[in-house]
Amino acid sequence: MVNYLGVNSVRELVRQVGLARFLQQLVDAMDSDYRRWEQFDKSARQAIHSPVGVIELMPTSDGRLYCFKYVNGHPKNTAEGLLTVTAFGVLADVDTGYPLLVSELTLTTALRTAAMSVLAARHLARPDSRRMALIGNGAQSEFQALAFYHLLGIRALRLFDTDPGASLKLERNLARLALPGLTVERCASAAEAVRGCDIVTTATADKRNATILLPEMIEAGMHLNAVGGDCPGKTELHADILRRPDARVVVEFEPQSRIEGEIQQMPADFPVTEFHRILTGQAPGRRTAQEVTVFDSVGFALEDFSALRTLRALLQQYPHLGTPIDLVPQMDNPKDLFGLLHAPAPQARTALQPEPQAA
Ligand code: NAD
Repeated sequence: MVNYLGVNSVRELVRQVGLARFLQQLVDAMDSDYRRWEQFDKSARQAIHSPVGVIELMPTSDGRLYCFKYVNGHPKNTAEGLLTVTAFGVLADVDTGYPLLVSELTLTTALRTAAMSVLAARHLARPDSRRMALIGNGAQSEFQALAFYHLLGIRALRLFDTDPGASLKLERNLARLALPGLTVERCASAAEAVRGCDIVTTATADKRNATILLPEMIEAGMHLNAVGGDCPGKTELHADILRRPDARVVVEFEPQSRIEGEIQQMPADFPVTEFHRILTGQAPGRRTAQEVTVFDSVGFALEDFSALRTLRALLQQYPHLGTPIDLVPQMDNPKDLFGLLHAPAPQARTALQPEPQAA
């Protein structure tokens, strides 16, 4: 039986579990999956580019479960009332090849990206980090803000977006939550937002080599969480930031990041550290309080694998939120697929009965 989780179901799941706990479960799942890095079948994602955006497929498998995500990135979409990033995905059983779960992944991508940012920051940011600049205040921004507030102890947020309405929206959404101890300040420029911060998160969307952060804005000891530069010709950091002698760049999966990350601006032998090596103790995390660390995030398929298996596990606890769908035929004689066309629908069992709703 294939289960379907739509946007409303994932929203309800997050409400039932609680946002902070949901994010923590994603962090835990990614932590455990990144630690078994060698078990995963890994490849750079497959991308089809157009002048205005990209559509990508992201597959991976640990030999037991397989997943793929369909995701787009169209920065011009918001001007047309559409999201920049939408996604959906499938989790399947490697043994039979049968799909197990089809899920929305738009909300889930924002949640898993924020959880991954926190997981990286736990190893790369200074442990006493309390102030974060958040540049780019669109769809991803609340998720980033809340993940860093709940899971990393950020208590001061400094916002900047070229669209003041986006910052106002973020500020209002955070104010509505009345989070104890959190101060939020809108700033007039990226430079003003960044000044004196421990962590700088960039989550802007623009299909060009932008320079959201300039070398003169970077202070010793900062951790940069660069989320928005994630496809060829789309970056956020001035290359001289990466070249700083005191800077250390950490990536998810090097072959993909060389194509899509901030490091696409650098020569092929520019040194980077894959994140799983830090988790498993093969490479150090932050070494000194003065070091500038950069998490060059592009989003790797393993993170969606972790998210999909988390959703599937949560469906065991909240079964009424899943909808069984007749994606794959169920038949008495699997060699008689043709017979399905002539069988009366109930006998063919293509339309699965919805599971009873929980009281
Ligand atoms: P969005 O379009 O909703 O928001 C982007 C915001 O950036 C907008 O408010 C826009 O006004 C602002 N912006 C654009 N140029 C700017 C600039 N020069 N200075 C300041 N602000 C600027 O997009 P989103 O869904 O929030 O995604 C943000 C970015 O994150 C996108 O580039 C997306 O591709 C990327 N992303 C990365 C990952 C990952 O895993 N690394 C996951 C999801 C999204």
